[in-house]
Amino acid sequence: MSVTVRWAPSPTGRIHLGNARPALLNWFFARRHGGRYVLRMDDTDLARSTRESADGIEADLAWFGIAPDLLVRQSERTALYDAARDRLIASGRLYPCYETEEELDRKRARARLLGKPPIYDRAALDLSAEDRARLEAEGRVPHWRFRLDGRPVHFDDLIKGPQTVNTASMSDPVLIRADGSYLYTLPSVVDDIDLGITHVIRGEDHVSNTGTQIEIFEALGGNVPIFGHHNLLTDAQGQGFSKRLGSQSISDFRAEGYEPLAIAIVATLTGTGMPVEPYADLDAIAEKLDFSMISHGSARFDPVELDTLNARLLHAMPYAEAAPRLSALGLEGEAMWLLLRENLAKFSDIAEWSKLLTGPVEPVVSDEDRDFLALAKALLPLEPWDETTWSQWTDILKNTTGRKGKALFLPLRMALTGRHDGPELRSLLVLLGRTACLDRLP
Ligand code: GLU
Repeated sequence: MSVTVRWAPSPTGRIHLGNARPALLNWFFARRHGGRYVLRMDDTDLARSTRESADGIEADLAWFGIAPDLLVRQSERTALYDAARDRLIASGRLYPCYETEEELDRKRARARLLGKPPIYDRAALDLSAEDRARLEAEGRVPHWRFRLDGRPVHFDDLIKGPQTVNTASMSDPVLIRADGSYLYTLPSVVDDIDLGITHVIRGEDHVSNTGTQIEIFEALGGNVPIFGHHNLLTDAQGQGFSKRLGSQSISDFRAEGYEPLAIAIVATLTGTGMPVEPYADLDAIAEKLDFSMISHGSARFDPVELDTLNARLLHAMPYAEAAPRLSALGLEGEAMWLLLRENLAKFSDIAEWSKLLTGPVEPVVSDEDRDFLALAKALLPLEPWDETTWSQWTDILKNTTGRKGKALFLPLRMALTGRHDGPELRSLLVLLGRTACLDRLP
């Protein structure tokens, strides 16, 4: 059986970190098993879905470096859902209901008063053909419910282990609204069958849907896929991410200059047995991530961990990878990159740091260091320079002035770079060269 997975976002806004988790976990799984990755736009909710959001989701995936093997849009597949609808009606599994929202509310309130669970009473199943004709003549339009078996549905979850959902404790779900539009439940199953989906990997908020959906797979005679429900990522406060709040969308992180790999690592490895640390690329994660490593507890996003990881990825980034991005900023030079990369929090910081080499730099010279720096200038070795030049120079200065440690190094750093932190002076000196150093020393 060759693996086919799907990621099925609803294009009702931009995706956030919590959505990136199933997007990437599905891709890792496909990659690890040499399988296919389908991107399915769950856009049956025409009022809330937009093409702009769908395009944004595609762009976010591409930013992670993921190209789906297939893209489908549910809004273009209605004929398939209609055919499944007709089959379920013919087999008596889908039945019309005429209750209004108010009537359903009253039924639920009554059940609660009697101490019963507020489950739909299936009154519509008792309607005769005449009853239905009369209701329709009154102008009532039916919505359609799926008649559940009402039994314990067992499945072996790829992540959570053996699960049981008892559909006897659930209302028969509405699959089609009175306006004829489909809720998510049926189209998802129809597509999973039609596209040969072998593994459904999604958030654990869908576990109870799985009970219903397994019954629908069986009612339609389709192969039931293997399910894997992952823990959900929450924000730093422990709340679920929400599209509506616009909180921390992937495009926001992108605009803030984060590395896609850092976002991918944090979105997927938080709350797993694999450390949130640098990996060479997505493939390196796919190779290592076994789904048994995904924990059953919650996974909380830590923004500090993201910043640290982003920096670590940059500090280890080889020149070959950085070069095209440097050239887009008008920069080049392997020695420059290797010297400066360890100071970066975001890639774009390199533009500012590179000014240490190209100037202009405003040397900072305090009055008490002026004589010392004048001496340093006089004792600056002659070229050619190499990595030992710095210690030659500072050894002489140490012996001549008795200065050591911070009193020796900091004034030199402040004069040469205009700041108290930054790259290794030993290497910086060589890249700067004697003329630039003389210019910066008073
Ligand atoms: N559109 C659904 C969601 O975003 C898909 C769930 C599924 O993967 O089946 O929650």
